[in-house]
Amino acid sequence: MNIASRQPNEASPARIAPLAVLPVFFDLSGKRAIVVGGTAAAAWKAELLAANGAVVHVHAKTLCDTFEELVRGGASAGSFVLHRRFWDEGDLREAAIAVCDAQDDTEAARFFAAAELVGVPVNVIDRPRFCQFQFGAVINRSPVVVGVSTAGAAPVLGQAIRRRIETLLPPFLAGWAEIAADLRASVMLKLAPGAPRRHFWETFVDRAFAAAPSDPNVQELKDDIQRGVTAERTLAGTVTLVGAGPGDADLLTLKAVRALQAADVILFDDLVSEHVLERARREAKRIRVGKRGGRRSCRQEDINALMLKLARDGKRVVRLKSGDPMIFGRAGEEIAMLQAHGVMLDVVPGVTAASALAAALGTSLTHRDHAGAVHFVTGRSCRGGLPDDLDWRALTDPAATTVFYMGGQTAREIAGRLIDLGLMPETPVAAGFSIGCPQQRLKRSDLAGLASGELNCTGGQPVLIGIGRVFEKQAFVGMERAA
Ligand code: SAH
Repeated sequence: MNIASRQPNEASPARIAPLAVLPVFFDLSGKRAIVVGGTAAAAWKAELLAANGAVVHVHAKTLCDTFEELVRGGASAGSFVLHRRFWDEGDLREAAIAVCDAQDDTEAARFFAAAELVGVPVNVIDRPRFCQFQFGAVINRSPVVVGVSTAGAAPVLGQAIRRRIETLLPPFLAGWAEIAADLRASVMLKLAPGAPRRHFWETFVDRAFAAAPSDPNVQELKDDIQRGVTAERTLAGTVTLVGAGPGDADLLTLKAVRALQAADVILFDDLVSEHVLERARREAKRIRVGKRGGRRSCRQEDINALMLKLARDGKRVVRLKSGDPMIFGRAGEEIAMLQAHGVMLDVVPGVTAASALAAALGTSLTHRDHAGAVHFVTGRSCRGGLPDDLDWRALTDPAATTVFYMGGQTAREIAGRLIDLGLMPETPVAAGFSIGCPQQRLKRSDLAGLASGELNCTGGQPVLIGIGRVFEKQAFVGMERAA
């Protein structure tokens, strides 16, 4: 070896920074594992090992209830063999892996030394000094398996990371991975290495994150392989209308996050918060198309035309709207247009502003003592003033809760109209400004106060106005009282 001939300053840069632990994936099917201890922690390790097909020899004088049940019920894969006696060195000799929930450091040290002596990889639960390997937190989409390790530094952090990754990987990924295994041989046979194969698998991956596998999907893939057509993208474009919720990215649904993670292009409205956009795939192109409070930015026809063009180009388009796309979001027009042009389309609901207001106040919109109905009403007609094609009298029902969207500019007129029609001026009112955003403000008053302008709804922040007896009491304190 001629290591010395290289000058120190010529050292090639490392391709990877130092690794705390090496993630390797072990197949224990049919192998012997040994688990010592009858505790719940030992039971979980035994269950994991058996899930991977190991024959798990359990050494414990007594088992906790969970472990008893596990052994009695048997494993979905692998199996359990119970030995109601302590372990000895002989038990370790034939094992492929050894785990122990030791009572103290002395037992831990003894187990560790014995395993080391016969060369069996060993883990003493929660005693890192006596572990040659750690168990990662598992995300199971078998055959896809993701393991998370913090090298023992912070298991709770590992679990939190696991939960986040869980949300990003659709359960149906498992089915796609099996299909990949089935197709692999014919891809090798029919498609040349390099670009053709890579294109095929990229298309495949696009599909795998978009929807559950179906027979037509698989047939299409097989046809692609037969025809050798993979050089260009064969996917049809899709449009997903996604509800972004009121602003707090944690209120996105798991489906919404997945759609954002799979998007090529995101067309979003002004009210969509930057925190939500941060959850999108980094490579996705973001286009603001929003219109706010009458401010003209993009005409609906232009948005429609853009959406259609992108879908026809084979893009996965996410049309991202604040709250729920099906509530005052002009989703009806967009859906009709897309359907008329045969574009594949689906809708992911979101938390509408009214639900977020109710949650922020701790107020049930349908408290059974006060309201048997909820009205969602627009406070502005398309020409700007109060809508005149509404049955305003119906909104004076004292046993209903009424929530006005887009009512900031017309708030005083709304209150005046309702009082004129007979709703009591003392009827409670709550206003939520920028609900679910860092600058959220909640105010309350009554209808008379709303009519006199004391809630100051015209400031430009999005505001939702709730009217009705349910707003009399709020569970949560910290609200400004305007009256
Ligand atoms: N699709 C949305 C509503 C869009 S209409 C939804 O389901 O919530 C726009 C109006 O919604 C705004 O004028 C305002 O009245 C209300 N709104 C939306 N987000 C809001 C928020 N974070 N805080 C207060 N009001 C909001």
